[in-house]
Amino acid sequence: MVVIKTAREISKMKDACRISAEALRVAGEAVKPGVTTYEIDTIIRKYIEKQGATPSFLGYGGFPASACISVNNVVIHGIPSKKLVLKEGDIVSVDVGAYYGGFHGDNAYTFPCGSISENAQKLLDATRESLNEGIKQALVGNRIGDIGSAVQQYVEARSYSVVRDFVGHGVGAKLHEDPSVPNYGAPHRGVRLLPGMTIAIEPMVNEGKYQVRVLDDKWTTVTCDGKLSAHFEHTVAITPDGPKIMTLCD
Ligand code: MG
Repeated sequence: MVVIKTAREISKMKDACRISAEALRVAGEAVKPGVTTYEIDTIIRKYIEKQGATPSFLGYGGFPASACISVNNVVIHGIPSKKLVLKEGDIVSVDVGAYYGGFHGDNAYTFPCGSISENAQKLLDATRESLNEGIKQALVGNRIGDIGSAVQQYVEARSYSVVRDFVGHGVGAKLHEDPSVPNYGAPHRGVRLLPGMTIAIEPMVNEGKYQVRVLDDKWTTVTCDGKLSAHFEHTVAITPDGPKIMTLCD
């Protein structure tokens, strides 16, 4: 069931979204060669808790950390680890949510670690821009398929591929709400977008083929072909005045 939020609820939800965005910014500042993903996760958790908020992912479905940190060929759900030391040239996807005032915010960004290859930079640019293309379609009267179609067309025109097995989602009082928000699909199809819907749009874009697999730890999701993957996400409110990106820093 799609949950429609009142203007007042959306206004309250902005706090959770702002904290999520700031936690992501703080994480990005910590991405450097020699740092472990465990250290970045700790920085994130401490930042969120300092704001009086709770890390949305910690304990969610048994997830053992505050953020998913996914390096290079890891698409999503990378588990922060003391053994994973970042090195120059890595691309580091950080996905983090914060729960505050009864609502969740959810966002992700793929950071370069030091200087990265031109190919990696192009993948990051294309994925970030595909998110913007999706957000542009988050209009009252459009349908979910308009978002996915815009993302998919932008990505595939650059010879990258869109992950199918994982999708965006509604977000609000629960971290994952209806509807599903795929990053692929046909225009004019799917759930109609109404004012007061809040959704997480989150393209996961692979350098090679779209197939992914989940490792034995039941979380870490990698590209089947071993090539790079990037992930950008914003929480967006559908409003009569157009899409409002909620996960922005102050
Ligand atoms: Mg999400």
